[in-house]
This record gives sequence, structure tokens and C-alpha cells, in this order.
Amino acid sequence: MKCTILTVGTEILFGSIVNTNAVFLSQELQNIGVDVMYHMTCGDNPKRLKEMLAHAYEDCDLIITTGGLGPTQDDLTKENIAEFFGEKLVMNEVEKQRIIDWFAQTGRPCTENNYKQAVFPEHCTILPNPMGTAPGFMISKEGRILASLPGPPVEMRPMFTQYVKPVLAGMCDSRLYYKSLRFIDIGESYLETKLLPLIDGQTDPTLATYATPFECSLRIASKRATLEQAQRVVDDMVEKVRAIVGENIYSEDGSTIDQVVLKLLLSRKISLSSAESITGGQFAKTVTDMAGISEIFDRGIVTYSNRAKMEELGVSAETLDRYGAVSEQTAGEMAEGLYRVTGSDVCVSVTGIAGPDGGTEETPVGTFFVGVCYKGKVSVKKHFVNRRTRANIRDGAVQFMFRDIYKVLRDLT
Ligand code: ATP
Ligand code: MG
Repeated sequence: MKCTILTVGTEILFGSIVNTNAVFLSQELQNIGVDVMYHMTCGDNPKRLKEMLAHAYEDCDLIITTGGLGPTQDDLTKENIAEFFGEKLVMNEVEKQRIIDWFAQTGRPCTENNYKQAVFPEHCTILPNPMGTAPGFMISKEGRILASLPGPPVEMRPMFTQYVKPVLAGMCDSRLYYKSLRFIDIGESYLETKLLPLIDGQTDPTLATYATPFECSLRIASKRATLEQAQRVVDDMVEKVRAIVGENIYSEDGSTIDQVVLKLLLSRKISLSSAESITGGQFAKTVTDMAGISEIFDRGIVTYSNRAKMEELGVSAETLDRYGAVSEQTAGEMAEGLYRVTGSDVCVSVTGIAGPDGGTEETPVGTFFVGVCYKGKVSVKKHFVNRRTRANIRDGAVQFMFRDIYKVLRDLT
């Protein structure tokens, strides 16, 4: 089944909102085996809306629209769809009463234009909207299906999941299954080169590498008659990939490095503390984003100044003087000092230069050192992320902190 997603909304074209509806629907549709051929967006303009409908109608069996179902003058999606499909608009008394009740309940006055939301194409299925006043609807005509959903994501998502997705899933004759593998210490181009024998000439399963900041992933997908068949094909391919680059895979279920590390620490009851300079607490923030982490996370200290590094962690004045605050020695003493203070199993430290100023020839902007002290034994790694903004560098530093902890834990077993 081929689909066009048509998002209606001038704000999307203005760039004032991000088109998350298209993203959500694409992901959902792919999971049930629908091929999304086009993302189209237009403003609240009847001529262009109908032109896009015509284009979608030409190429696709399924059209899903979002937006423009509201009560105001500029909401004209429904009117234009009805006209395009040659359908009369008729008032639905049940929906009209529902709108009256809804306003009575909220105590707000129900103005005349609200009844616009109780008018529907004559031959359609109305899709209830428990989250708002604008219902959606579905038309099935001439071998085409059209589903029209409201714009606000909180209304659109449950309506799609509850009323549209099951209908479509029942009509699709194939199912998609995929796995996302995540890698460390291997670049996208090198990964692709290594996997070329598997990727070349492959139509199902498909293998696609992609780079996210600081790491790369591989998506293995298969579309077969049943989910079980697709699953088997994907799992076989995962096995083959593992045989080639297994040591670089850190996650097979899409979990990110922070999630993997924190789950590992939780499951083994390994305690953790952090001392951050360059990242200013961003590592501790990420750690505490995970619910239940208090079981293993003792503290995160931000030691930004030299004085803080000396007072809180006992870094020696001589080390700071001789090697500088951004150095292997300082990172090491930070992790070691943190261990003295906390006794946590894992004590991680970071110090670096986020820029834009302050870089030198030896330690350019983007350089940082991560120290990991595991049960008193310290190791320090130097990292460098090139050509990045201050925010990127700090994000990278947090990622590498997790990565270095991951490697220490991995090498234990
Ligand atoms: P309403 O009854 O609120 O007018 P509607 O169905 O007419 O709903 P729109 O007027 O197009 O929908 O959009 C309402 C709001 O929904 C937008 O202001 C925006 O916040 C959100 N929205 C609309 N389309 C999208 C989209 N494609 N992605 C994310 N949010 C969206
Ligand atoms: Mg609207």
C-alpha cells in the first residue's frame, strides 16, 4: 500500500512548528508495512490543497491528512476533501450534541462556528476525538482510502493509533521488522566498507548505515508476509553482522550509550559518582534523567575552577600548574580524588576546552580528558572532537564519559 502524508498548516511552512506529525505517521506506517511515498505540506489554501490531493490520488492508495479540522475560518481541509471526492457535507446530529455537551462541561460559550466540526462528508466513517472537539474521518472511494486527522499531535496520535492503524494493518499483505544496531569506535564509512559483502545486491533484508553525532548505527529491515518471517530474516542478518563487527556493537535494541551503561550499573549494583568541569553537570543531569538511578548514583560535583578541583577533589596545585587544568594528569587526579571522597565503585571525571576561545596548539578547542576510576584504579583517555560548536563539544564529552565507563565495564567480564 502506497501512502502520501499531507500535513496542512501555514505554521509548518513558516517554520514556527516542527512537522512532528509527518515523522510520527511515517514511523507508524512503516511498522505496519505501508510504503510512504510522499510528505506534502501546504498552508490553508484551497487551490494548493486540492492540487496536492490530486497528486496524491494519482500515485497512492492511501492519503493521510493532518490539520485544518478546527472550527475557525482558516480550517478548510474537510471542505476541500469533500469537494475533491465529490461528497456533500452533511450535519451529524450526534456530533453536534457532543460539541454542545463538551462546551457545557468546560463552562465555555459554544459559538456558532463550532458546529462546523459536526459537519462531515456524506459517505465517511467518523473518527472520535476524546482529546478535543474536532473529530477526524475516513473516506473509502474508488479504491482509495483517505484519513483526515486533526493537527494537534495529542489529538492526532491516539486517533491514528486507535482507529486508523488497525484498519490499515488488516489491509496490508506484508509486515516490516527491523533492528537498529549501535556502534562505537567505528566510523560510518569504515562500517559500510566492512559490511559491503552483506550490503551489496541485498534487497531484503536491507542494511542502511547512518551517522548520528559521535557514533553510527545500522538498520536492518525486512518486509515479509508475516512478522515472524521478517524477524527470522533480520535475526539471521544480525548474526552475520556480529561475526564481522561484533566487538563494535554496544546495543541491539536501539538503546543509547547512556541507557546501556546506566542499566548495566543498576543491574550489577555498581555505584557511580562524577566530577565535571567542561560539561558543567550535564553528565549528572543525563544520569538523573533515568528513573530509579538513586539506587547507584551517589553524587555529581561540578568543579569548574582550579580552586574547586583542589578543594573538592584534592587535585594538587603543582599538577594544575605544571600540566594545566585540561590535562591527563588533572583528569586522573580528579577521578582519584572523587574516589577518596565518595568511595563509589565508578568515579568518572572530565576536563576540557569547549571554546570558542581558550584553545592552544597542543590543546585545541574540542579536546577533553575523561578519567575513570574503577574501584581505585584510574585510567584516563584523551578525546578530541573536531569542528564543533561549544554545545556539540559538551554533548560529545558526556557521550565519551559514558563510552569510557562502558569500556571499563565491558573489559571486566
Ligand atoms: P485546531 O482545532 O486546534 O485548529 P486543526 O485540526 O485545525 O486543530 P491545525 O489548526 O492545522 O489543526 O493545527 C493546530 C495545532 O496543531 C498547530 O498550531 C500545531 O500546534 C499543531 N500541529 C498542526 N500540524 C502539526 C504538525 N504537522 N506537526 C506538529 N504539530 C502540528
Ligand atoms: Mg485549526
